[in-house]
Amino acid sequence: MIHIQHEVEYGHTIINFALKFSDRKTVSISVQPDCQVLVTAPEGTVLSRVQELVHKRARWIQKQQQYFQQFLPRTPDRKYVGGETHLYLGRQYRLKLVKADRSFLKLSGGYLIVHHPDISLSRNVEEVLYCWYRTRAEQKFRERFEQWLSNFLQIHSIALPELRIRRMKSRWGSYALSGRITLNLELIKAPVDCIDYVIAHEICHVIYPHHGPKFYKLLESIMPDYLTKKMKLEFSQS
Ligand SMILES: [Zn+2]
Repeated sequence: MIHIQHEVEYGHTIINFALKFSDRKTVSISVQPDCQVLVTAPEGTVLSRVQELVHKRARWIQKQQQYFQQFLPRTPDRKYVGGETHLYLGRQYRLKLVKADRSFLKLSGGYLIVHHPDISLSRNVEEVLYCWYRTRAEQKFRERFEQWLSNFLQIHSIALPELRIRRMKSRWGSYALSGRITLNLELIKAPVDCIDYVIAHEICHVIYPHHGPKFYKLLESIMPDYLTKKMKLEFSQS
């Protein structure tokens, strides 16, 4: 069964959902145990109407996702204290906290050195770390994205997708029919070939916005070892 993915913005987050049409009379919204949102709508319902309904139920959806999240394999809760390990491009680094006049992060040796006037507050440390992750992601994702896109454009002619980076709960990336590819900021913790896999995957969605056999054939044509990378991504998070 092929369900096309859509999205709705809710505050600072994005809710992704799969849409399926059926002969039922009303729209139903459910959250699956893997945190994916599935919407079933009567044949002919316009997308904007579905998006409006998803937006209305956004709080309930997020509550359901939080509930299921506890059963999903995940990274242990981070405390953002000195000595704790954090990932960057697939490698583990230790946090080192330094009291300083201004806040910034320095990567040195095996350390992520967080500087902040008040390092006793874990949310300050998290903020500095994520600000740095975002800067690195903006650079790295865009560089890989441009690279894959230019390779792809030599073989296929497509409308240029736009790239956006967000922190998402349950997905590495998504493609919206509006022509926008969203990459999860958390992906900056993964090795570069895993980042490449998600980018190649999403670029292929510009041609096939589903996960049918044609989609996988296309993905395999541009990335023959995509399965290895995919597995690596799924198992590399610790
Ligand atoms: Zn996909």
